[in-house]
Amino acid sequence: MKIPIERPCECGGTYAFSSDGDADFGPATCSRCGSTAHLIDPLSVSVTGERLLYRSEADLKNGEYSLSIVVGVMAVESFLTRLFLKLKGMENFAVTFEPANSAQEAEWEKEFPKSGGFPRPADFVSERLVGITFDEFVATNKRASTIFSNIQDSAGVSPAQYFQDQLFNRRNRIAHWGYVNSSKAEAQLCHTVAVAAVSILREMDSATDWVGLAQRLAQAARAGVSEERERSREILDERQQAEPVERRGHSPR
Ligand SMILES: [Zn+2]
Repeated sequence: MKIPIERPCECGGTYAFSSDGDADFGPATCSRCGSTAHLIDPLSVSVTGERLLYRSEADLKNGEYSLSIVVGVMAVESFLTRLFLKLKGMENFAVTFEPANSAQEAEWEKEFPKSGGFPRPADFVSERLVGITFDEFVATNKRASTIFSNIQDSAGVSPAQYFQDQLFNRRNRIAHWGYVNSSKAEAQLCHTVAVAAVSILREMDSATDWVGLAQRLAQAARAGVSEERERSREILDERQQAEPVERRGHSPR
């Protein structure tokens, strides 16, 4: 999938960067002064998610409204999955001191709820990262609640349900029911809503106490090891106590 990103040059011209999928962006030449520039991906929990938002924006500009909506939802889904995999990777690191490989990530993805549209995966991730539901996070995190209250018709609505109704249901109508006549206004709203959802997930990432989480996980792993040692000692003790009895049982009468 092509990911186009435009950036202004100091001279007033434009750099049009382009990349395919997750490949690096090639250098771009300014449309006016001809100078060359490079683009580096933002530091993000989901570089793919960030790129998909750009693609959704480009589709919106090009009049590909239904596609823009589908890609916007993909961006949100990518963020949710990456946040979960970041947590799993940390759990793994706390135990093995090895970074996760792609085979492990593929295995962990099976734990991630595939169904339930937005609310179920969002709660799943939120509860694991910050210990509360997605709606509770939006209500109690100042920046997240500002992001949410700034989007259209969001007053008094459950945030998780809002993202389901305004974004995921529109995607479902396109992807599952073959509806391809999305209007410009619809696609514009969806893009804004997708950016808001991703922005709230970015806030969740930065609100997560990753260091504390890693420490607790490492502690739990160590406790697990010592608990296991304790248990095998108990089993050995039991066996030693049981042995004389057993011997008596096997002795000829
Ligand atoms: Zn220029």
